[in-house]
Amino acid sequence: MTDFETVVMVDWSARSAPSPRKPTADSIWIGVARGGPAEVSYHRTRAAATDWLISLFEAEIAAGRRVLAGFDFPFAYPRGFARAVTGSDDPLGLWGAIAGRVEDTGKNANNRWDIARAFNRLFDGGPGPFWGCPPGEISPDLEMRKTVDYAAIGLSERRAVEARIARTQPAWKLYTTGSVGSQVLLGLPRLHQLRLHFGTDLAVSPFEPAQTPIVLAEIYPSMLAADVSARRDPDEILDAAQVRVTAEAFRSLGPGQLSAMLAEGDPVEGWILGLGHEEELAAGLGPALLRPPPLRDDCFALPPGVDWTPVAEAVERLKAALHPVAKSETVLIAGASGRILAADISARRSHPPHANSAVDGFGFAQGSIGSAPHHLPLVEGRAAAGAPFDGTVPPGKALRILTGAPLPAGVDTVVLEEDCTIASDAIAFRGPLRRGANTRPAGEDVASGAAVLPAGHRLSAPDLALLAATGHGDVKVFERLKVAVLSTGDELAEAGQGASAATPDANRPMLAALLSGWGHDVVDLGLAPDDADAVRAALDAGAAGADAILTSGGASAGDEDHVSALLKSEGHLTSWRIALKPGRPLALATWRGIPVFGLPGNPVAAFVCALLFARPALSVLAGGGWIEPQRFTVPAAFEKRKKPGRNEYLRARLDGAGRAEVFPSEGSGRISGLSWSTGLVELGPKERRIAPGDPVLFLPYAGFGI
Ligand code: AMP
Ligand code: MG
Repeated sequence: MTDFETVVMVDWSARSAPSPRKPTADSIWIGVARGGPAEVSYHRTRAAATDWLISLFEAEIAAGRRVLAGFDFPFAYPRGFARAVTGSDDPLGLWGAIAGRVEDTGKNANNRWDIARAFNRLFDGGPGPFWGCPPGEISPDLEMRKTVDYAAIGLSERRAVEARIARTQPAWKLYTTGSVGSQVLLGLPRLHQLRLHFGTDLAVSPFEPAQTPIVLAEIYPSMLAADVSARRDPDEILDAAQVRVTAEAFRSLGPGQLSAMLAEGDPVEGWILGLGHEEELAAGLGPALLRPPPLRDDCFALPPGVDWTPVAEAVERLKAALHPVAKSETVLIAGASGRILAADISARRSHPPHANSAVDGFGFAQGSIGSAPHHLPLVEGRAAAGAPFDGTVPPGKALRILTGAPLPAGVDTVVLEEDCTIASDAIAFRGPLRRGANTRPAGEDVASGAAVLPAGHRLSAPDLALLAATGHGDVKVFERLKVAVLSTGDELAEAGQGASAATPDANRPMLAALLSGWGHDVVDLGLAPDDADAVRAALDAGAAGADAILTSGGASAGDEDHVSALLKSEGHLTSWRIALKPGRPLALATWRGIPVFGLPGNPVAAFVCALLFARPALSVLAGGGWIEPQRFTVPAAFEKRKKPGRNEYLRARLDGAGRAEVFPSEGSGRISGLSWSTGLVELGPKERRIAPGDPVLFLPYAGFGI
């Protein structure tokens, strides 16, 4: 049992306006670890982050999970300050006093300079303890530089805990490089808000006993700087990496360790949680893993001037843009079906392991038996697959031998029992038999050391037999790719729910089933309305928890096409106008470094684009390389005229005569036709007219792994 099931780490910010929409450093970042990798989220205002934390804590309490929440700013000032403000040393009383003075709007506008000036005025005989501000805020009560003599006003510059870490900045410094003072003034009121909200369910370490469902503590993420930098992704914002790794480190502690750390510290000045325990924290993280780089943001960009892209060219471009992102792990072969090999496999042993009999019969040395017909006395005993014969069969004699039995010494040939007359002590048969007849040499199938399966191969049931036969009990495979699925559209409702006028979300169940069939783990992002904030939140969740995102709907350039609009303004979007029907533009984008496949909303078009583009692209990301569909040439059972210059995909199936018939309606909303079909007919850009009997390409769904 861990002390806390959930560890939350918060990187706070004192910005005076909302942080940019695009995640940026020096904003609020929150990492949440519950075992496994931490999830990181980005928050644009203190108010929004506080609301988010309240919902999170409530959900964790409801789920029966204890939460440790760390914040990266001091929870107290050096001894004496609380007393000067409130008349008591109680740091939590000071929280209330600060909260009572600070105004901090939902858009981060705040009065912290006024508060600092008011506090400074409490100290007679010189400048007060707070200093540092932008030039416009300079006044007799607040200076840009430090002029204060702390001893003269009865305070110290640093808390005892800060004196132990030279790099920490005192909470008095409100402005410029590395300062934390403004974060304290704007952070403590929010923590006070959490205290009021959760009452006796929440305690603040080390001022109160840490025995509540929610415990708040002060942290200093730079304490684990080396561990963070070893684990930071190449494009990861430092703040994000810090909260992620710090959350994982505290979550990794064993039973009792965290509770013991929470009991440390000073009841007046507070403490930095885990100080002095850096090695224990790092140990829990384990060795830093090599993380593959995310995709380049511009990986999907088309050269200038490229307009309608032929399907074949789109495929080539997509192939070139992607590379594997999955890490590897070792799994038992019994659970390896559908997994992708992360390393070349060679035989650890020969198959078969020894020369053996291919039939039930009698074994002898072919060179020792003279000419036919043969009469051979039998040696006592027999050789069976699980019970080899230990002795040597003398020249001119034979031994009873069963299928699969290793050939004993003195045997190189076997005669089938059906070809023999058998007495109790001898056999007779006609020859001739060539040497080695009815036997299988060792390694006949696979020789020890021979290449068996290449890296990137997706393991089938027969492959598992081959791996077992060649001496493998486990194999190195790529971790399953996590693919998030999001449906968008105001008109949509969850299947089986919603008003009668709503359109049931047909794409999500379909896409999720395709993805699991392709061996990926599905992360369900649910339904989002046509609203930028909702789509952004869903994409953020996808980027935090998945390796790729499939969206459907809103992918064109229309007014309600929030997915493409958002990807364009805050991600990196390339709308590929691919010359295919059904399809419309396919939005290919990256969001926080994660590839996004923006599929059309239309279920038929979403299905076709998923098969043609998402399937092979995801296979590359998953380590399986680009995969082509199977194409068979079959006679057409239909007649059709088509516009040249684009590919068309028709819902089709084979009739009793092996000809491709197509669904009578090409309407791209006709989901019934999808279900009716067992494959697609692919018509190339040059084709104009197909008559019955003409050869056409049939792409069976089975060849798409469906
Ligand atoms: P859009 O691409 O958002 O313009 O959607 C095109 C058409 O597909 C509209 O008729 C949508 O209602 C429909 N559609 C979009 N998403 C889905 C979905 N998940 N399930 C069923 N129909 C959808
Ligand atoms: Mg829509």
